[in-house]
Amino acid sequence: MSVELITLGTAAGPAIRGPEGGISSALVVDGAFYMVDFGLGCSRAVNEAGLRGKDFVAGFVTHLHSDHVVELPGFLLWNWGHPVEGFTRPVSIIGPGKDGTRPGGGGLSGTTELVSHSLKAFSYDIDIRVHDEARPDLASLVGAVDLECPADGSPDAARPFDVYEDDRVKVTAILVEHPPVRPALAFRFETDAGSVVFSGDTAECPAMVTLAKGADVLVHEAVNLDFYAGKGFAPEFLNHQRIAHTSPEGAGRIAAEAGVGRLVLSHLAGRAEPTWWHDRASSTFSGPVDVAVSGQRFRIDSPVLSPA
Ligand SMILES: [Zn+2]
Repeated sequence: MSVELITLGTAAGPAIRGPEGGISSALVVDGAFYMVDFGLGCSRAVNEAGLRGKDFVAGFVTHLHSDHVVELPGFLLWNWGHPVEGFTRPVSIIGPGKDGTRPGGGGLSGTTELVSHSLKAFSYDIDIRVHDEARPDLASLVGAVDLECPADGSPDAARPFDVYEDDRVKVTAILVEHPPVRPALAFRFETDAGSVVFSGDTAECPAMVTLAKGADVLVHEAVNLDFYAGKGFAPEFLNHQRIAHTSPEGAGRIAAEAGVGRLVLSHLAGRAEPTWWHDRASSTFSGPVDVAVSGQRFRIDSPVLSPA
């Protein structure tokens, strides 16, 4: 089995603070590919990585902050139908449902409505291309799923739960701490060649240790709080960065406690030199640490693992 992780985009958002693409990752398993998050630029990044929509199987959304889903509509429209080597068979988009903890949360879109409203917004283009270019109906190909998550505070909230399985991968998720966003999810992919865990956005939390236990690769977010502190941002914004994200030292601690084979830092919030991120994560984790850049590839070949 051939499995490769591609960090398509590694930047936090929604600000553009440098050359890196918005947060998005792909896992390529025997030529078929799966996506985790759809940040700004992911469609181009997928194409430049040599991936084509015809091989797309499923996308997983960690949470509904815009920097994680802004290009989901573009990705679907750019990877659909024969004319663009796109998918012509059903694909899945799997992510959080509505946030019942928000006042008026029932009126705010979860993943299913994010997809359905997006396709509705582009209905003119889709209708034209179905009739003018003999493409299959896009809406009927995209199966969107609002995940049923364990209730906050319940014993199950601290445990991984099943979200997807086919003959190549088994995917589980766990609730992570990214207040005030609920639910916020991390995903673990198991393949015959090894396991890869994606933190999504999260504070340093025990759930990440639980989900990442013994994984071959942990793709974890990190924030440089000093960057924001020096910019004169509002206290509310600085507080969000502090309580909802993880320092590189914290990501290293999670990697060490979980005993993962490799730590890949992605979704880097706030700018810093690569060595800044690397040295801080390495101060708490003795294994290999990568400060991922957009388009970087990692071959998953448990137990031997190396950047491709
Ligand atoms: Zn977020």
